[in-house]
Amino acid sequence: MSRLVKSKRRVMVEAVADKLHSRTHSPSKSSIYFTCPASTRFIAMYQEEPGPEAIYGTETHTLGETLLRQSLRLYDFDNKEIKPIEETIKGLTQYDDEMLKLAEGYANKAMSLIESERKRIGHDPIVFIEETLNMNWLMEGMVGTLDLGVIADDVMTVLDLKTGRSKVDSWVSKEDGKKEPNSQLGLYALGLYHSIGKLYPIKKVRIIIVQERIYHISEYELTLDELLEWERNVVIPAIDKTLEPNPTAVPSKGCKWCPGKDVCAARRNANLGLYETSKKQVDLLSNEEIDELLPKLDDLIKFAEDIKAHAIKRMLDGYKFKKHKLVYSRVTRSFSDNDTVAKILLDNGYEAYSKPKLLGITEIQKQLGKAKLNELLGEYITTTKGSITIATSDDEREEVNIESYKEDKSI
Ligand code: SF4
Repeated sequence: MSRLVKSKRRVMVEAVADKLHSRTHSPSKSSIYFTCPASTRFIAMYQEEPGPEAIYGTETHTLGETLLRQSLRLYDFDNKEIKPIEETIKGLTQYDDEMLKLAEGYANKAMSLIESERKRIGHDPIVFIEETLNMNWLMEGMVGTLDLGVIADDVMTVLDLKTGRSKVDSWVSKEDGKKEPNSQLGLYALGLYHSIGKLYPIKKVRIIIVQERIYHISEYELTLDELLEWERNVVIPAIDKTLEPNPTAVPSKGCKWCPGKDVCAARRNANLGLYETSKKQVDLLSNEEIDELLPKLDDLIKFAEDIKAHAIKRMLDGYKFKKHKLVYSRVTRSFSDNDTVAKILLDNGYEAYSKPKLLGITEIQKQLGKAKLNELLGEYITTTKGSITIATSDDEREEVNIESYKEDKSI
C-alpha cells in the first residue's frame, strides 16, 4: 500500500498556499461563480462565519481522515506514531455518534476503493489524503483541498465526502441532456492531474461523491480528454467571466449559497420582476402558468426570508430603518415558581393541577421500542395524515389520493 506521509516541506508549502489562497475562486464555491460571475465580488466582500453545519462537516472530515490514516497505517511525521482516534475526538466540538458513523462510512468506502484498485492493477496505487492542490494555472492563489485522490496506472479517482442532507451528484446535466462533472470535483480532478497526474499514463477519470447521511453515492466517469475539454470549454471561460471589470449577475437557484444573497440587486430584480408581472395580469392565470410559477415562488419566499434576516441583523447592529422597528413576534407568559403558585391557588380554594395526560406515541416508543409498542398497543394506534402541500413531480413522497383525502375531510 502506498504510504504518503506529510513531510515538513509539504506543511510549509501548505502554509504559503493558505496565505495566497484565493477565497473568491475556491473550488467549493465554483457552482455559484460558474453560473453567476458577479458572485465572486460578494464572496470577496463578505466573509461568512462558518455555521454549525459547516463546522460539523469539517469535523467529520477530520475524523474520517484520522480513521483512513489509521487503516492505511500512515504515521504522523513529528512523533512517528499513528494518531489515536480518541485524540482526534477530543478536539472536536460537535462530535456525536452520527459523526462517527459518517466518518467510518467514508473511511470504509475509501479503503475499499483503494483495495479494489490495488487488486485491479496488481500493485499499490498512489493515494492522496486531504491533499492541498495548487491551482495557480487557472487563477493566481487558487487552491483546493481534495478529500481523497487515487492514481492507479491509467485511472485517476477523486472522492469527496459530503455531510449535508441535500443530494449532491458527481455530475450535472446540461440543457442538451448531456452530463459534465460537478464543478467542485471536476476542479479537484484537474488540480490533481496538473500537479501530479501528468506523470502517469492516465486515460480515465472517476469522480465519486459519498453522502453517508442520506445513503447516497454518486459516481461519474469520463476520459481524460473529456476532462481537459471541459477545462477548455467550461472552466477557463467561466473563470475569465468572473475577472471582467463588471461581471454579469445571473440569478438562479444557487443564489441561496451566495454571500450576497441578502443585498444583491439582480436577485431582487429577478424576484420582484416576477411579482410585478403577476400583478399586472388582468386575466386569470392558466393552469400552465401556475405550473410554471410554483417553483419560482419557492425562490421568492427564500429571497423574502433572506432580506428579512439581513434587515434584523442590521437593526441588531444598531441601524434604524425609517419605517420599521424590531418587535417580539409573540410574548408568552409563564410562572417563575410553580410550587408556590400551586399552593396559593389551593389555599384560596382554586384548582391548581390539570388531570394526568397520556404520553405521546414517540415518548412511549422510546420506553418500549417499536416492536413492543406494536405488540402491546398496535391496535389502538391510528394514523393521521398532516395537511397537504405541493411538491415537484420527482419528490419521493407518495402522491395524495384525492378521493380518499376528500372523503376524510368530507369535502
Ligand atoms: S445573489 Fe445570485 S445573482 Fe446576486 S451575485 Fe449572488 S449568485 Fe449572483
